[in-house]
Amino acid sequence: MPKIREMSPHLADLIAAGEVVERPASVVKELCENSIDAGAKSVTVEIKNGGMTEIRVTDDGCGMSPEDVETAFLRHATSKIYTERDLEAIATLGFRGEALAAIASVSRVELLTREPASSEGTRLLLEAGVKTDKAPVGAPVGTTIYVRDLFFNTPARQKFMKNDRAESSAVGVAVVRLALSHPEVSIRYLRDGREEYHTPGDGRLQSAAYCTLGREFAMGLLEVSNKTDSMEATGYTSTPGAARGNRSWQFFFVNGRAVKSKLLQAAVEQAYKNSLFTGRFPVCVINLKMNLSAVDVNVHPTKMEVRFSDERAAFDTVYWAVRGALEREDGPGELKISQGTLKVTGTAPRPESDQKSAAVKPRGDFFKSVSAEDYRSGKAGPKAPGERVEFRDVVKSGYQTKLDLPAPSKVRAPEAYPRYPAPKLGSGTDEDEAPAVSGTRATGETPRTDDTPAREPEEEREWRLVGEALNTYIIVERGDSIFLIDKHAAHERMLFDKLKAQKREPSAQILLTPVVCALSGEDERTILENSELLEKLGFEIDEFGPNTLALRQVPMDMDLSDPRGTLEEIAGKLRLGGKRDVEAMGDDILHTVACKAAIKAGRRSEPGELSELIEKVLSGAVRYCPHGRPVSMELTKYQLDRSFKRA
Ligand code: ADP
Ligand code: MG
Repeated sequence: MPKIREMSPHLADLIAAGEVVERPASVVKELCENSIDAGAKSVTVEIKNGGMTEIRVTDDGCGMSPEDVETAFLRHATSKIYTERDLEAIATLGFRGEALAAIASVSRVELLTREPASSEGTRLLLEAGVKTDKAPVGAPVGTTIYVRDLFFNTPARQKFMKNDRAESSAVGVAVVRLALSHPEVSIRYLRDGREEYHTPGDGRLQSAAYCTLGREFAMGLLEVSNKTDSMEATGYTSTPGAARGNRSWQFFFVNGRAVKSKLLQAAVEQAYKNSLFTGRFPVCVINLKMNLSAVDVNVHPTKMEVRFSDERAAFDTVYWAVRGALEREDGPGELKISQGTLKVTGTAPRPESDQKSAAVKPRGDFFKSVSAEDYRSGKAGPKAPGERVEFRDVVKSGYQTKLDLPAPSKVRAPEAYPRYPAPKLGSGTDEDEAPAVSGTRATGETPRTDDTPAREPEEEREWRLVGEALNTYIIVERGDSIFLIDKHAAHERMLFDKLKAQKREPSAQILLTPVVCALSGEDERTILENSELLEKLGFEIDEFGPNTLALRQVPMDMDLSDPRGTLEEIAGKLRLGGKRDVEAMGDDILHTVACKAAIKAGRRSEPGELSELIEKVLSGAVRYCPHGRPVSMELTKYQLDRSFKRA
């Protein structure tokens, strides 16, 4: 008896469907991309119950002829690619010719379509990929595809689906991506009969961002643009002040196609180096245009990943685009301390062009990729202090390491800058699998390792509070040194340590008026998916409206001046926490709460509060805030004397 048999086409479709159709959001993405490919000026997406029971995508595109409708549902049927050579130049959005077949094989589909030139349309019904009816009908020009009962015939997959809220918010993110990558198409999104977004389709990215990401976001954007011989980056990025607690509002498009790219993320974040604290992420919408053959978008079936033939050029184009935008935005002067001289400098100078060319000089082995094992075992991870960190490390390791780029370093430390061990940033909000990286401080000095003996038993030495400056820094004199302490950073650290030591059941405060926060779809989904854990920690959070949550109860310590920031940070941590146990996750979240509750720089503090802080800092118990910022700096008498030419 022969054992090997060919798979039935239906079985093959089901398997392919698993790749293409992961969840309702992927159906919406595929259908909308088809509509945009069909030249639609407006596309309407409607879903019910997270898209599990109904998804309907209607467009005013070119429609299909009665002969074509059935072919469209065959596997590997496409009108977009005919020869092998076409593969090199994929200008359209869809090209695998699999989407309709895959979707139809796991649902009940109704298609209505009419070409502009024909007086009559066609209606086709399929169930689990099998045609059940086809007839001519009256229909508007364009195509409507109505997908019902997704995964009705694959119950195993159905079980994998999250709750409706989570699925619809994933659909929301997919729609936002489409709207931002196609501002020329008017996109309307209705969820359970309620309109969530409606972009005007006026071709302006800003309009699309305004309609999907909100007014507040669209107003704080800086325009980004940079054109080189081979590429062009355009779009918007946020002012450093408008950064968020995670990366869910970073959108990248390559030739109009939404992509996920660590390389481009790294380019943007490097451009913000020294302007953003660890754990804060810029918001951006960046479109990179390049020769079609310079990019391979066919790396992954869901087509979100890209491979650039010249990664360095892609990185640089985006880096300089964002850097340029940030430098145009005049920042306040910063304190520059070097070798005992105090200087106030203005905005960082624009890097010279020769520095620029030094940065782009490629090395032969520059882009050799790193195996997953090497990456995990840390061989490809952050280097020992002083060792040159290569470009690829930056991309792989969470972007905190030093990059050999001429990003201007604004603060240089005096020689006697306290040399503390580098902080552990393991609790960071980086949603990607970034290993804990020692924080590269602006100072660039080599962090002292833990086994270096402490200079002296510092707790016992006397100190004197000189005063508080700018409502932010405490000035303390001790021995031959003056210490400047960042009050907020130090307090954050204290609360963080306290919480870690206590591990107690948090008590909660019920809010008389619920606090309403607007979040990105991805953050909203993450919070809602984890509502059980959050409840245990003292939160009570409800869905309030489109991408909006209402906080009804919060842990006792929580500061409510920036609830959105807190939730964003928590969402980031939750996404990161998939691999960790619930208890560790809970701790992490409480740390966020504690940090946010720390006294704000700018608020006057009680004397008792201050001396506790000073003790902790001077004793060396508090060195870095939980985000990795140093909490104090030391100016020695010798440095001051040198500045005043006394020494
Ligand atoms: P692909 O998009 O990769 O070609 P699909 O399975 O998504 O594969 O679609 C198959 C074909 O069906 C497309 O190539 C196109 O010719 C046709 N088609 C799909 N959706 C539409 C639409 N909304 N309007 C017009 N034609 C469409
Ligand atoms: Mg397609």
